Amino acid sequence: MEVGIAGAGIAGLMTALALCAAGRQWTTDVRCHLIERSPTPSEAGAGIQISPNGCAVFDRLGLLGSLIEISSAPSAIRIVTADNQRCHVSVPLGQVAEERYGYPYLTVNRQQLHGLLMSQVDLLGECATMQFDAEINEVKDEPDRAWLAMTNGQKRSFDLVVGADGIHSCVRDVVGKPDTPRFTGHVAWRGIVSADSIPECSPIRETVTSWMASGGHAVTYPLGDGRINLVVVEASQDWQHESWTVQGDAQTLLRRVDRWHPELRELVASMTEVYRWALFNRPVPAQWHGDRVVLVGDSCHAMLPYAAQGAVMAAEDAMMLAQVLTNTVQSGSPRQKPFFSALADYQRQRFDRVRRVQTLAHRHGRLFHLKPLASGIARLGMRMLNLGYPSYFQKRNDWLMGYRVPEPPM
Ligand SMILES: Cc1cc2nc3c(=O)[nH]c(=O)nc-3n(C[C@H](O)[C@H](O)[C@H](O)COP(=O)(O)OP(=O)(O)OC[C@H]3O[C@@H](n4cnc5c(N)ncnc54)[C@H](O)[C@@H]3O)c2cc1C
Repeated sequence: MEVGIAGAGIAGLMTALALCAAGRQWTTDVRCHLIERSPTPSEAGAGIQISPNGCAVFDRLGLLGSLIEISSAPSAIRIVTADNQRCHVSVPLGQVAEERYGYPYLTVNRQQLHGLLMSQVDLLGECATMQFDAEINEVKDEPDRAWLAMTNGQKRSFDLVVGADGIHSCVRDVVGKPDTPRFTGHVAWRGIVSADSIPECSPIRETVTSWMASGGHAVTYPLGDGRINLVVVEASQDWQHESWTVQGDAQTLLRRVDRWHPELRELVASMTEVYRWALFNRPVPAQWHGDRVVLVGDSCHAMLPYAAQGAVMAAEDAMMLAQVLTNTVQSGSPRQKPFFSALADYQRQRFDRVRRVQTLAHRHGRLFHLKPLASGIARLGMRMLNLGYPSYFQKRNDWLMGYRVPEPPM
């Protein structure tokens, strides 16, 4: 079975790895061909959180050990007030998460994660090839074959095309009703900084900390290399670029946080490079696939980053897609009818979960951007709940972090 994968971001790479791993049990050979428009493999300037449900996918692919080696395992998620670091909620992670969910909660540098996935795809040999500097500009979905055309004039056909080409996906255009991503009015400042400016005992060094302020919020967490990932999100209408490489002005960011806790200000002051990233939103479409084309990751369900689940959902998608195709390929050739129903099954199995996660991300976004009075009330409410019913916030995460993509029947 020949699979064309549009985009070599986290979704595309995970899909290639999941399909090739599943393909080892198939009666037919699988060949994945990743087509990426960037000239070089890249992800830059930021960290990423991989919750236990994401680690479960890495484990199924045999990559958990390598992921752990390059990651940090924070001891808790805290929600604090930005100006005084007063803690309202603290959800234990570390050993507690591992015991509760069977997998750790990890934080990692994106570049290193991307490097790990790329190196694993390289190891697949002829099962997966990668083509860079190749932009797809046309997609065709036909009952027996799907086609990708590139701006360099190349045209290729596949048994299946997977759209892993991010929020502005062109593959998505052939699948459902046309729609476009909407700018949310939120802009993220992002960077990675040395932890040297903050005290050894600071909880910033070992927790995922969400800092609530009026008109914005920040998230900090440690990375596997000992540095700190910092994201500051503010409401702003004047910036609509999405790029890992568009730089912002650190002095402007410093002015934005001038009333925040000194440790956070120190971190911002020590930033040598800061990137600005406009946050866009796109509803989950009613249709995720055609006859021979299917969507995974942000191309299908880009979400606000406030639940830290976009890439993790992409990993789950990849595993689920491999799973439903296993059921189909084992029962016949990929040219037969069950192919369409396998893709329908994939959508059915993912739809409600992804919608629920997207809603959660919205809810977090609203909480983090409340007006001062409402924010004060919300913080008080969280503090009381955290004190009176300490496991409340942890239990609320169980459906999300305890999820596993179903294993194939033996
Ligand atoms: C501030 C912020 C923080 C986040 N934090 C987290 C987190 O902690 N945890 C988490 O799980 N998620 C997080 N996310 C979400 C996560 O980054 C995304 O969900 C994830 O990177 C999506 O991966 P993807 O491969 O689907 O899309 P992308 O990363 O957008 O990759 C798409 C790829 O397709 C390529 N491409 C696009 N168009 C074409 C074309 N026409 N032809 C060929 N190639 C093409 C692109 O160059 C790119 O390489 C965060 C997002 C943001 C903005």
